[in-house]
Amino acid sequence: MKVFLNPGHKVGLDSGAVNPTNGKTEAETVLKIGGLVADYLATAGIDCELLQSNSLAGEDEDRNNPSICRTANESGADIFVSLHCNAANGRAQGTETLVYSEGGSATGLAKAIQKRIVEGLDMVDRGIKARPDLAVLRNTTMPAVLVELAFIDNQDDVILLTENQDDFARAIARGITDYQLMM
Ligand SMILES: [Zn+2]
Repeated sequence: MKVFLNPGHKVGLDSGAVNPTNGKTEAETVLKIGGLVADYLATAGIDCELLQSNSLAGEDEDRNNPSICRTANESGADIFVSLHCNAANGRAQGTETLVYSEGGSATGLAKAIQKRIVEGLDMVDRGIKARPDLAVLRNTTMPAVLVELAFIDNQDDVILLTENQDDFARAIARGITDYQLMM
């Protein structure tokens, strides 16, 4: 199995959500966790390609900013996993995993990852949600999920996103290997 990992946003170009108190950025957090996921997958013998790019659907594509969806579709990957942090009103917290539509293999993958994160880090379980509007879910040709790891603007969640990056990464990698066993 080959996994395409997409830490959301782009360090230096698009910070994504930012914690208003400590300045922690989504782009840096998910890039760090994505790198750790890649390490765990490699250890498990799973092929992995990682791309963080500001270009979601191919707009303004150039050498430094390649299209995520096109690159993923041409990579030969069997599954696509995008990593993001949520943000809302400072009070909302927890983990949710987004799919293009419910049912099918993407939902199986989403449930496996969601379960490992919620159990592994004792997160509030916000469940699986259909988001057909998201380019990385709509324009990818393999089962695709977008994991909203936690709320970066929540003071409890941001501590986990900072101090438990390895736990998030291990949970995501385990969710992926759980899914592999279901296939
Ligand atoms: Zn994001």
